[in-house]
Amino acid sequence: MKSNIENLLNQSAQYGIEYLQTLDDRKVFPDQQSLVALARFREPLPEHSTSPEDVIEFLHRTGSPSTVASAGGRYFGFVVGGSVPASLAAHWLAGAWDQNAGLEVLSPVAAFLEQVCVQWLHELLEIPSDSGIGFVTGATMANCSALISARNILLQRKGWDVHAKGLFGAPPIRVIVGQEVHSSALKALDLAGLGRERVETIPTDDQGRMRADAVKNLDDHTILCLQAGNVNTGAFDPADKIIPLAKQAGAWVHVDGAFGLWAAVSSEKKYLLSGYRDADSWATDAHKWLNVPYDSGVVIVKHAGDLVNAMYQGGAYLDQSGERVPYQFTPELSRKARGVEIWAAIKSLGRNGLEELINRNCRQARRFAEGLTNAGFEILNDVVLNQVLVSFGTDAETSSIISAIQKDGTCWCGGTQWHGRTAMRISVSSWATTDDDVEKSLAAMIRCAKDIKG
Ligand SMILES: *Cc1c(COP(=O)(O)O)cnc(C)c1O
Repeated sequence: MKSNIENLLNQSAQYGIEYLQTLDDRKVFPDQQSLVALARFREPLPEHSTSPEDVIEFLHRTGSPSTVASAGGRYFGFVVGGSVPASLAAHWLAGAWDQNAGLEVLSPVAAFLEQVCVQWLHELLEIPSDSGIGFVTGATMANCSALISARNILLQRKGWDVHAKGLFGAPPIRVIVGQEVHSSALKALDLAGLGRERVETIPTDDQGRMRADAVKNLDDHTILCLQAGNVNTGAFDPADKIIPLAKQAGAWVHVDGAFGLWAAVSSEKKYLLSGYRDADSWATDAHKWLNVPYDSGVVIVKHAGDLVNAMYQGGAYLDQSGERVPYQFTPELSRKARGVEIWAAIKSLGRNGLEELINRNCRQARRFAEGLTNAGFEILNDVVLNQVLVSFGTDAETSSIISAIQKDGTCWCGGTQWHGRTAMRISVSSWATTDDDVEKSLAAMIRCAKDIKG
């Protein structure tokens, strides 16, 4: 068993190393031949065993070529980070540990590292030091967990116990979002029983920021959802103008800061977060800008007890002493030890390294905008953070140029709609992106665009 596991894990590590070392030489999106080869996985349910070495070899040979090279430096689709080396390595080691992070008695190290991460995140993200933090799968679940906390507290103030009675017959809660709310935040509202269609929507400005002058008539049974980092433009809702109004009215302010909350780490960019510290809850991703492996999100609630109360499970066998009981901060009971990867990323980068990463990605985004402008193309947003929107001409031209860029394979960017126009979105979110990657990608974008426009 011992030597087998050693060979197996070495084999797997070798494949991983080979994968990462050749990532730069392949197209960012898999070629057709690799995709067709996925059909090899389609076989009848195996009746008999296969050696683990063969399983892993098959997985590598057939699976690795059909991955998207988002762990490399030239993936700019959606908002996707890579994995900083220490965090990836910690992920491998923690895979060997196979810890259940729900309870300290199941994993002292996971519980301890989560506590360390809680303190570090309070400082890094500049949020109140007594806020409660839960380690969830991503910003969708972080938004959802925070919104459930908000819902329960607002209803509790009206004398309604959601735990006992659910939402049937409960006093109504208003939900206010910006026109540019992320679709996953609407899903989170939906999952929390708050509905998508009954939300009140505040108009946004040319950058997708909620218009502060349109935020009116707030009250103490309202959840106001702000966005720190619009997925298209990177713009932030003006929290410094809006949150004081909400506080005065007794409304709950929730912040979706899936990637934008990390601006707090940058002395150049933290001005964007002015006022955000006064919110009641926040959601962010660790698998985006902190560059830890999937899946990893963080829910933060100003009064830790509000989160713990919302995530209440009951069940005497789970009663735990100790400072912080991990499962009491998340929807899950059993889950993986996400704190390990977050700890490793922060420990290896340090505050300075993380600030350098954020600043570098922002500078690289500005370089994309500059290079594309110089080549005669139109940038549709103010590049305040890491997101760039470019139009190559008509919507049809932009669409075909996006396809050509994706097919070329030097880099990968997706398309989006912005104020009625088709745009290509460039999101620079990876620790692995070098300035050379940016120049190579820029050259490929301009070459593909000129080929099509003639
Ligand atoms: C990515 C993103 C989300 C969803 O996050 P997941 O980690 O994919 O669940 C929510 N809001 C914003 C602004 C995002 O960029």
